[in-house]
Amino acid sequence: MAALDADVVVVGAGPGGCAAGLAALRVRRDARVLLLDRAPCGRDKVCGDPVGPRARQTLAALGAGTGVRHEEEVSRFRLVSASGRSVSGAVSTPGFVVLRRILDARLLDAAVAAGAQFHRATVAAVPTGASDVVVTLRGGGTVRAAVVIGADGANSVVRCSIGEPPSRDAHLALAVRGYADRPQDLRELLIRWHPVAHGIAYAWAFPTADGHMNVGYGAPVSAVTGGRKQLESAFALLLENVLDTSGVRFTGHHLPLSPGRPRAASGRVLLVGDAAGLVNPLSGEGIFYALESGRLAGAAALSSRPDTGYREHLAQRFGRHHRDTAFAARLLRPVSVEATIHAARNDDPVLRQILDLALGDGSLSARDIVRFTRSWIAPRRRTP
Ligand SMILES: Cc1cc2nc3c(=O)[nH]c(=O)nc-3n(C[C@H](O)[C@H](O)[C@H](O)COP(=O)(O)OP(=O)(O)OC[C@H]3O[C@@H](n4cnc5c(N)ncnc54)[C@H](O)[C@@H]3O)c2cc1C
Repeated sequence: MAALDADVVVVGAGPGGCAAGLAALRVRRDARVLLLDRAPCGRDKVCGDPVGPRARQTLAALGAGTGVRHEEEVSRFRLVSASGRSVSGAVSTPGFVVLRRILDARLLDAAVAAGAQFHRATVAAVPTGASDVVVTLRGGGTVRAAVVIGADGANSVVRCSIGEPPSRDAHLALAVRGYADRPQDLRELLIRWHPVAHGIAYAWAFPTADGHMNVGYGAPVSAVTGGRKQLESAFALLLENVLDTSGVRFTGHHLPLSPGRPRAASGRVLLVGDAAGLVNPLSGEGIFYALESGRLAGAAALSSRPDTGYREHLAQRFGRHHRDTAFAARLLRPVSVEATIHAARNDDPVLRQILDLALGDGSLSARDIVRFTRSWIAPRRRTP
């Protein structure tokens, strides 16, 4: 048998791929981990740029706590329903807004410092054998590895190579993102919901440390009949009273939502992050799930049964969460967002629970649902 080029090849050096590389090297410091990406270090990624408290915990567990910095911290938020009802406040554990070209470069630097090798290459296919995986590169060349981790995002080539179809429209959102000048007094994460056919969409404005706002609008693909123009017009309509939306240049991308997630592992190939369809269907948050699934896949990659180990750990970590977010996502309508904002204004624990379900690993018990209903039907207690 010819020698392997690497113990683990990770395709894609975004949050999921870097987390996988770091986690594998924490299991075995001398493991040969090769990170491949078609783009150079420091590339942009269309995203809202926020790193939530849970994602920060994962970064710390990977020894990559410097992925976020104090000056990027944002604690205040405001959630506004379609009718204009709102709830705002400050979270006890803050989030961070970090431009993705900066976050991803910091993570890649951390992975390389830990011992990973980075090569710029586009992966064309990943045919698997009984005892190894051969990664075929566009333009010629192959790399042989014991295990391949597909962290190559929403249009994953690795995922297609193992026979998993792309996400269906029912489990896809489309979003556009741009940058606007930040009004001096705006220092909170702002989300404003918007009714669309058979569901709900939202616009966001998140303050960055460099004096801008990351702004955008995302909707279920099934509700986007007018392409990006529709998304850009809806964005302007929702946020024109908050900031100057006129000069914003948008870029768009898909978000593969978690209820439609494929098999996350097949033999010697493991899928993480967007390649595994792990974006939260309630919020569009994907960075935390990419980091955490990457951490689990990297830790399992060097074991004797990488696929079963990874599948089991992923199910333990997110099985209940996925079940409950899928349930809640089916109820996402303008009326349920109104009810949620009303309940959250009445009861802080309800607000925390909702944030943990939408941005973390939260789940719902029968007691939570009773508490939510009580807070929803109660007359308004708190002012926004
Ligand atoms: C408009 C928009 C807004 C969003 N807002 C948020 C938000 O506010 N909060 C949040 O948490 N998430 C948000 N997300 C989701 C988030 O961006 C993703 O979930 C996250 O980037 C997934 O990380 P990943 O590592 O799985 O994949 P990616 O970050 O997509 O990284 C994939 C990497 O693979 C590389 N690659 C792709 N194909 C190949 C190939 N064939 N060969 C080699 N390399 C390849 C790419 O160059 C890239 O570097 C948003 C997404 C969009 C589109």
